[in-house]
Amino acid sequence: MGDAEVTIVGGGLAGAEAAWQLAQRGVRVALIEMKPAAFTPAHQDPGLAELVCSNSFGARGIETAAGLLQWEASTLGSLLVHEARRQAVPAGRALAVDRKKFSSAITARLSAHPAIQIRREVARAIPSSRPALLCTGPLTADALARDLQHRIGEASLYFQDAISPILLGESIDRSVVFPASRHDRTGADYLNCPLDRATYEAFVAALVEADQVQPRPFEDQKLFHGCQPIEALAARGVDTLAFGPMRPVGLVDPRTGKRPHAVVQLRREDKEGLLWNMVGCQTRLKHGAQRRVFRMIPGIEKAVFVRLGSVHRNTFLNAPRVLSDTLALRQDPGVHIGGQLAGVEGYLESIVCGLMAALFVHGALAGRLVPPPPPETMTGGLMRYLREADPATFQPMNANFGLLPALPQRLPRQQRRLAKVERARAAFLEWVRRIEVVGVER
Ligand SMILES: Cc1cc2nc3c(=O)[nH]c(=O)nc-3n(C[C@H](O)[C@H](O)[C@H](O)COP(=O)(O)OP(=O)(O)OC[C@H]3O[C@@H](n4cnc5c(N)ncnc54)[C@H](O)[C@@H]3O)c2cc1C
Repeated sequence: MGDAEVTIVGGGLAGAEAAWQLAQRGVRVALIEMKPAAFTPAHQDPGLAELVCSNSFGARGIETAAGLLQWEASTLGSLLVHEARRQAVPAGRALAVDRKKFSSAITARLSAHPAIQIRREVARAIPSSRPALLCTGPLTADALARDLQHRIGEASLYFQDAISPILLGESIDRSVVFPASRHDRTGADYLNCPLDRATYEAFVAALVEADQVQPRPFEDQKLFHGCQPIEALAARGVDTLAFGPMRPVGLVDPRTGKRPHAVVQLRREDKEGLLWNMVGCQTRLKHGAQRRVFRMIPGIEKAVFVRLGSVHRNTFLNAPRVLSDTLALRQDPGVHIGGQLAGVEGYLESIVCGLMAALFVHGALAGRLVPPPPPETMTGGLMRYLREADPATFQPMNANFGLLPALPQRLPRQQRRLAKVERARAAFLEWVRRIEVVGVER
């Protein structure tokens, strides 16, 4: 098939889903996957849609962020979510799969599709034909990454992700933290968690002793100075953090009238203040250790972590700076981006981002604009994050309820979650009806 209408690069989670979605809508697709000619440092199997680490797509229940996203993807006819359910293995409330069978099933479905041509080759540059869809993921091969970087500018493509935890705003104790910016220069943009000397020293000791995730060989590279894990800084000496990211300079706790010994600053992730980022707390601590140690910080003892910290290799775009509302490069609107490369984080999120990119490409081919789902939905919340997050501090995001706008009424936590789910489902179905996006046959 030499007459493909769309070229997709990358047959991982996003690319496989996108190829299926387009092909089922009658579009001829060339899917370029470099395996087995070349492998990223994490991929090992020649199959498409390979899961490189855990075999879990997160919780199944519709009342969870992952469950809601699965439902939305399924409503749009996601092949990968459908196959994940077919290849599920017992895993309590999680949707976990037999990774080998999952990948084999996807590979078989795409290989047998008359509108999909799979080409096993390394793409060294963005394809010249348009539309093109790049879904090469967090470990995009070097030559292509360099070409992309060349097109959009060096400062907009990242290769390393130093992620600080994100907290649910409503779980922060406002009777302890205080809003202020250093020297009150830019208004009270931050929430500050004050630590006295004893609390600070106990925190530093706990950081140094806590269990860490060991970097993989391909991740063991020099990190930028500003991206050092907090435990690495703590290990340099008891005062390093108090003179570094936790310095209290220019901050006075209004409750004591004094400068605290140290502070952890929380920076808002969204306009409404539903989500707060722990500034400078990127970490390689294991998840349980993060929850335990960070909850020693005054004001966030009972915080809900919507995302935990990590430091790992990750190629991704500064989406709010370089992508349009339809996941196309602003500088080259014929090139769309899907999956983790677009700035989402996680298996399921990457599938959904590939699916959305396919819908946008399909709309472009038909000469009509497909609006993204409303922000009340999980897919829409993720898409809005890619559009509206602050480009200066942009980091990839996973699905969570903090992405969805607050409800007009105050409700207890569990009820609030259910109300958000109901609102999301209604808004999603209405969007599907309004733009006549129909789920494809599987
Ligand atoms: C080491 C690691 C572990 C992870 N673990 C998890 C986890 O446990 N749970 C989770 O939810 N998320 C995890 N993620 C994050 C993320 O969800 C996955 O990486 C996910 O697979 C991303 O989907 P994708 O389709 O964007 O990219 P991928 O699934 O990585 O697919 C990209 C595809 O593009 C191909 N490719 C790359 N460059 C080229 C090129 N130039 N030419 C042709 N083909 C190319 C690759 O071979 C690959 O098949 C992990 C990420 C990494 C790096």
